[in-house]
Amino acid sequence: METTLYIVLVVMFGFWGLVLGSFVNAWVWRTSQDISVADGRSKCPHCKHQLAWYDLLPVVSYLTLAGKCRYCHKPISAQYPTVELGTSALFVLLFVSSGLTLNNPYAWVQFGLLLGISVLLVASFVYDALYMQLPDKFTLPAICLALVALGLKGLVLGWSTLTPQLVGLGLAVAAFTALWYFSRGKWLGSGDIRLIIIMGLLLEPKALVVGIFMAYLLGAIYGIFVLQRLKPQQRHRVMVPFGPFLIIGFYTGLFFGTQIANWYLGFI
Ligand SMILES: [Zn+2]
Repeated sequence: METTLYIVLVVMFGFWGLVLGSFVNAWVWRTSQDISVADGRSKCPHCKHQLAWYDLLPVVSYLTLAGKCRYCHKPISAQYPTVELGTSALFVLLFVSSGLTLNNPYAWVQFGLLLGISVLLVASFVYDALYMQLPDKFTLPAICLALVALGLKGLVLGWSTLTPQLVGLGLAVAAFTALWYFSRGKWLGSGDIRLIIIMGLLLEPKALVVGIFMAYLLGAIYGIFVLQRLKPQQRHRVMVPFGPFLIIGFYTGLFFGTQIANWYLGFI
């Protein structure tokens, strides 16, 4: 791809990441309040003042308002610019690592599906981090898009190429459903199983193993960090949401899964 076009596309996907990150913030907040995302204009959660378009510019509004509501001067959560910048960085990373060329429509369709799935995963990440829940309205459409991506892969590359991936998906789902069933939902929730289905539909078996391993490793490090900061009498009832770690694991598997697996297999 020509350099100028490449740079234009990087900027464009970075921009769309900001816009969709801003959408995710609004969607997560409205879901938590049981309001439709299509229902009326955004309001300040403190003073309920309706926000103007210039209050809603991703990152820019947060910076020009110095992190405070224009009307009531209460602080705006750092979650807003963080999610906007995070989604933007994710979109750029997805584009740069995709190796897209202009004469490969199949890769562009797969890339589009991955962007859609990513918006739903960012929403799941933020919602689980804030409210310890993974709403079906985020995870189920992501499963549908991942099924389309897998079906398309089968159609274009041949159905037999899917066999290792389907075996990996089946094993992972069976193992985690058993874990969920026997722990009565204490070790992981049913929403986490939906995330594992998405991972299995999109990742090759090696990358899936790396992704799940990373999720547990980072989840354990975070859990120890949280325990350290608590008083001993609080420690028995600590709950850590697992969804965000599964989602970080998914992207680790997607971007680096094969390299990490081959590097590890080089030792044994
Ligand atoms: Zn306000």
